[in-house]
Amino acid sequence: MSKFSDYNFKGQKALIRVDFNVPLDENFTITDDTRMRATIPTIKKILADGGKVILMSHLGRPKGGPEDKFSLKHLVQHLYDLLNPTSVSSAPSEGEQQPTKVFFANDCIGEQAAMTVSMLRSDEVLLLENLRFYKEEEAGDEAFAQKLSKLGDVYVNDAFGTAHRAHASTAVIAKFFAADKKMFGLVMEGEVLSAEKVLHQAEKPFTAIIGGAKVSDKILIIENLLDRATDIIIGGGMAYTFMKARGGKIGSSLCEDDRLDTAKEIIEKARQKNVSIHLPEDSIIADKFAADANTNTCPSDAIPDGWMGLDIGPKAIGIFSEVIGKSKTILWNGPMGVFEMEKFQSGTKAIALAVADATSKGAFSLVGGGDSVAAVNQFNLADKVSYVSTGGGAMLEYFEGKVLPGIAAVTE
Ligand code: AMP
Repeated sequence: MSKFSDYNFKGQKALIRVDFNVPLDENFTITDDTRMRATIPTIKKILADGGKVILMSHLGRPKGGPEDKFSLKHLVQHLYDLLNPTSVSSAPSEGEQQPTKVFFANDCIGEQAAMTVSMLRSDEVLLLENLRFYKEEEAGDEAFAQKLSKLGDVYVNDAFGTAHRAHASTAVIAKFFAADKKMFGLVMEGEVLSAEKVLHQAEKPFTAIIGGAKVSDKILIIENLLDRATDIIIGGGMAYTFMKARGGKIGSSLCEDDRLDTAKEIIEKARQKNVSIHLPEDSIIADKFAADANTNTCPSDAIPDGWMGLDIGPKAIGIFSEVIGKSKTILWNGPMGVFEMEKFQSGTKAIALAVADATSKGAFSLVGGGDSVAAVNQFNLADKVSYVSTGGGAMLEYFEGKVLPGIAAVTE
């Protein structure tokens, strides 16, 4: 594989797999363009070299044929605006840089796509129609992947969010490019480098903070981290299954009774491997799962009947923050409580601040997974941590120790 920043794209047709799977409202207005904005530096580098950019992506979950509401044509104007932030409608004066043109092909393969590509000039961008209008995309069909590959001289994978899928455009296509003609884009490179830093080059103490609702979703990641981390902080709803497994009284807190043995095994394995597991000493409890519930604070292993733990308490915040403060590497996945409700957000906010504080003192911190990313954004702390991952499912699978097809296809 080639290194993106060292590659000169002059005169090359760069076929980039991007993740433009953005949310749209009923008027086709993009409500969160984070994924599109993330890829702009990759596109700009290729254009600056004098290359041609061909973008391919999926959008939504079409049933395997064209559907207007899932057409990528709805993204063209916004892509143009992102590439030409200061452009005005009047013609540029002499010497002024021309705006980057953005074209759209209403099929991702076939004659129209091929013809539009052949007319593309060096500083121009072409967006192909939704890959998932062909069921062959998700099936990882080789013939379909080969047809796509014909559109570019070089393959750039910049879609970390779909790297855990072995689809035609995310993995299979790579085999049709020589080793020096395939590479990661800047988004993918950033994700892979930061995940590798945590998984394989972590400076110790290494603390993993795992929260969220269910133990069952996080078992594999915890098991993989038992071989790497020095400390594992467990918060959120999943902490109560661990509390009960240790013989605690958890009232009506969230609990997966079929995972009590798993929780016991994790506690035992951690002991054998000398990894400290930290459970919340106390909890903010509520008499119902609602924003206007009555609340109280009590030890997490002595929650009265009819009450449930919906956030970590002040003692837990103190202990967790101290562990985080001593860490050199921090991985955070999952909130400490029901942070969507104001009464139960103090724990998640305090942990976000502790991670930001440790980062300012030199720790490397990676926040990954949908809800913890939403939390650091909500508390305006995204730029106070070392890296915020854009790929929820992909990052989780990476930390479970799985090989991601989208990464393997480019590196092999
Ligand atoms: P996950 O997707 O597994 O990371 O879980 C995130 C969800 O877990 C969020 O919507 C939180 O509201 C929820 N959550 C966190 N702590 C608790 C808790 N103590 N009880 C119930 N739900 C929780």
